[in-house]
Amino acid sequence: MNSLPSPILIVGPCAAESREQVLTAARLLSEQAGAAPIIFRAGAWKPRTSPRTFQGLGAEALTWLAEARLLYHFPVATEVATPEHVRLALAAGIDYLWLGARTSASPIAVQAIADALRANKQKPLGVLVKNPVNPDPELWLGNLQRIASADVPVIAVHRGCSHRPCWSMAHKVRLARPDIPMLLDPSHLTGDAALIPEAVQKVALLALDGAMIEVHPCPADALSDAVQQLTPDAFCSLLPDLQRPADENAQLNWYRAEIDELDDALWDTLLQRLRVCEDIGTWKKQHHMPPLQPERFEQILHARMEWGSQHGISPEAIETILSAIHSESLKRQ
Ligand code: PEP
Ligand code: MN
Repeated sequence: MNSLPSPILIVGPCAAESREQVLTAARLLSEQAGAAPIIFRAGAWKPRTSPRTFQGLGAEALTWLAEARLLYHFPVATEVATPEHVRLALAAGIDYLWLGARTSASPIAVQAIADALRANKQKPLGVLVKNPVNPDPELWLGNLQRIASADVPVIAVHRGCSHRPCWSMAHKVRLARPDIPMLLDPSHLTGDAALIPEAVQKVALLALDGAMIEVHPCPADALSDAVQQLTPDAFCSLLPDLQRPADENAQLNWYRAEIDELDDALWDTLLQRLRVCEDIGTWKKQHHMPPLQPERFEQILHARMEWGSQHGISPEAIETILSAIHSESLKRQ
């Protein structure tokens, strides 16, 4: 069953905007990407957050993808969000389908797509399932299972949540289903073309199976996701990184990615805490109250030590950490 390329590279515009835009993107990639095994992507239906933004051109766009396939010999991919999209895309000869993060948030929508895939005579070469917009590994795993039950090869795509990676979710899915290839979507993960070169390093570091990257002939003119799309040139300069062999310490790198993500959350929380302390400082000043209330600190310290003893954290460690936070907080008041 495994006829998937290695690495799996799904590359092309966020949305199909016109016949000319689709064919220009495909031509530039075919001229510049050498022998890289590119699967050309463009969205015909765009599940956008706001109804006032570009929603995609629908079935007509599929004919442009089919034309790009014939002219430049790429397999092609598009997003499907309903059973009707599945039927139309497969009838147009689209090779790979993907389920976007918003569709992935609804098990009923995913099941309806799985049912359509099972019922349809033509089958795709593979179906990519993005992580849902909310960081829920069980929902993502359930979606992969629903689509796989239609007897089509499935591929997981980590696109993060709200322009942040969610390595803990991706790691859980990787460990639960090491048999399912996983790609990185650095475009939606970062939401910023400038951050993509660093993000793609994770493909080799985490032994991922490839990437899904948005490439537009003229990103500034894109009708959707303009800031995150790369020029074909910029994409091609990433090919050596995307084709690097997997790092031999990939398992350690997964743990480190999780630690970095947790540290980010920890420092963010600390910063928010310091900001609240500034507000408290202002309030205390207005009410002629000194910044330090020893009984309040003692109360927090004891509650936290009690909590620490339930989780195997020594009272000394709790006191050291809390005292450091507290003294920084007092400086802000
Ligand atoms: C896309 O790939 O164009 C897309 C809409 O992605 P996501 O569902 O991850 O937002
Ligand atoms: Mn997009």
